[in-house]
Amino acid sequence: CGIVGYVGSNKTVDVLMGGLGRLEYRGYDSAGIAVIDEFGVLNTAKKAGKLSALTNDLKAHPINDGSTGIGHTRWATHGGPNDENAHPHLGDNNKLALIHNGIIENFAPLREELLNEGYTFLSETDTEVAAVLLGREYQRVGDLAEAFRIIVARLDGAFTLLAVHQDQPGVVVGARRNSPLVIGLGEGENFLGSDVAAFVEYTRRAVAIGQDQIVTITADAVTVTDFDGHPVETEEFDIAWDA
Ligand code: GLU
Repeated sequence: CGIVGYVGSNKTVDVLMGGLGRLEYRGYDSAGIAVIDEFGVLNTAKKAGKLSALTNDLKAHPINDGSTGIGHTRWATHGGPNDENAHPHLGDNNKLALIHNGIIENFAPLREELLNEGYTFLSETDTEVAAVLLGREYQRVGDLAEAFRIIVARLDGAFTLLAVHQDQPGVVVGARRNSPLVIGLGEGENFLGSDVAAFVEYTRRAVAIGQDQIVTITADAVTVTDFDGHPVETEEFDIAWDA
């Protein structure tokens, strides 16, 4: 339902939790974050219920902070609202985390294919299928954007997907079809959001991502391509916001 991504030198957990707080108006039933910490290890925290449940969980069990992360508020469509079904979902032996807005219509045959190959699932979501599929392709190609280009060709439905991999620290990659995603441009930091509200506290410079495009952000650069990997022209706009 709500999506935020961040790379930069601010406190990533705070940026993600603040962004999710500003997306709360959209309604949701669970929330979660994933951060690649300063030691290069992927950490996740996720909880059913209000954002305050996740805030309390992070107080009780703090995760190491870092400079790369993704955050999600979920509006359950496949699998009830519980901790296991909350996003992020993991792939590639827990080295990759993925969040998703929307519905992957053909998740059942994809899940069957992955089960037959010996992969296992912890949730009932359509989303975890994309996480496991992305992890499988990452193992082959060693690059998140490239792995995304391979899996989006296999996904039907509507999605905004964001992922991080601990072997590619400093990088967040997103893909979208029939579901919104926008870039926030900072100085030495960059953002992604399902809505500019996710990052408006930090920047008023934004870039819209078109239909069927893949975006890669680092602290200093933003790259947008189509689903075949060809670079696309982007247009920057100023966020008009009365705060
Ligand atoms: N279909 C996914 C799920 O049920 C994502 C729902 C959403 O957009 O938050 O987990």
